[in-house]
Amino acid sequence: MIDLRSDTVTRPTLEMRQAAFDVEVGDDVFGEDPSVLKLEETAARMLGKEAALFVTSGTQGNQIAALTHCNPGDEVLLEASAHLFLYEGASMSALAGVQPRTIEGYRGSMIPEDVRTAIRPDDIHFPETGLICIENTHNKAGGAIVPLEDMQAIYEIARENQIPVHLDGARLFNASVASGVSVEHYAAQADTVQFCLSKGLGAPVGSIITGSAEFIRKARKWRKRLGGGLRQVGVIAEPGYIALTQMVDRLADDHENARLLAESLEQIPGLSIEGHVETNIVLVHIGELTMSAEEFLEELKQVGVLAVPFGPKTIRFVTHLDVTRKEIYDVVDRINKVIR
Ligand SMILES: *Cc1c(COP(=O)(O)O)cnc(C)c1O
Repeated sequence: MIDLRSDTVTRPTLEMRQAAFDVEVGDDVFGEDPSVLKLEETAARMLGKEAALFVTSGTQGNQIAALTHCNPGDEVLLEASAHLFLYEGASMSALAGVQPRTIEGYRGSMIPEDVRTAIRPDDIHFPETGLICIENTHNKAGGAIVPLEDMQAIYEIARENQIPVHLDGARLFNASVASGVSVEHYAAQADTVQFCLSKGLGAPVGSIITGSAEFIRKARKWRKRLGGGLRQVGVIAEPGYIALTQMVDRLADDHENARLLAESLEQIPGLSIEGHVETNIVLVHIGELTMSAEEFLEELKQVGVLAVPFGPKTIRFVTHLDVTRKEIYDVVDRINKVIR
């Protein structure tokens, strides 16, 4: 089976498994796990922030950001198809008690002036704008990179209005490798950043949030409240450290494979690529086929290819560590067979 459902399906490398076995551990709630401390320090340094916190998942990192930045009744500005809005079970509302307000973007990027217009004036009728969220790369927009200039402009507007900015950078390293802009540069356009170790970087579990020392102090308490204070967690932090320090550059291979997949699929009658491929996500439109996305995926499964539906006639393929160049060619062959 060739699994292109997500870059979360990667299995830990042999080196990660060995590291998990060998690692010296301690109780991280007491701040005594050496791997967690090393991972957090390294992540903070790489992103140019004062401090970092190892969290169980991207969703937990994003929610801790909302909980730490906002008060109940605040409004959060975010792009209309943001992961935080679509795919986190409305946890921002359920947990932080905030109201999301969406702004329609272009390829996942909000127009800075639209953000400015959406900020609430001081009025007894209105919620307070408590947070602005940006997602880079943007999942629903097919791994699109939010341009650095857009982030800079939004951060300027946010600072003028004293509103914090949170970057949902689940795939920030993909954006960086593809654009050549350093993660530190991107992170400088936000107060806090969440990124996933468990996606393209290949770690089995975990995400990081980074920000000021004061923010991370408060975030640590929210993590504990959410049940995310873990004990001998070096067994997953050490693989996470390997992911962060050794697996970044190879993301370029995933991007190359995604481009190859898109170029090949585009040649197949009935299929077209939505937008264009910038990183490791390929959105394929099957509009000219009589099948629905679900039916098409069922056929693909029969020939040993997995992907996910991303709309009634849209399929998402994600390339990653566990898919080789040869398997990409195999996928194209098998899809060709299904369509004939
Ligand atoms: C995957 C993802 C998340 C959530 O990460 P989990 O570890 O699956 O909870 C958040 N934001 C974006 C953009 C993502 O792609």
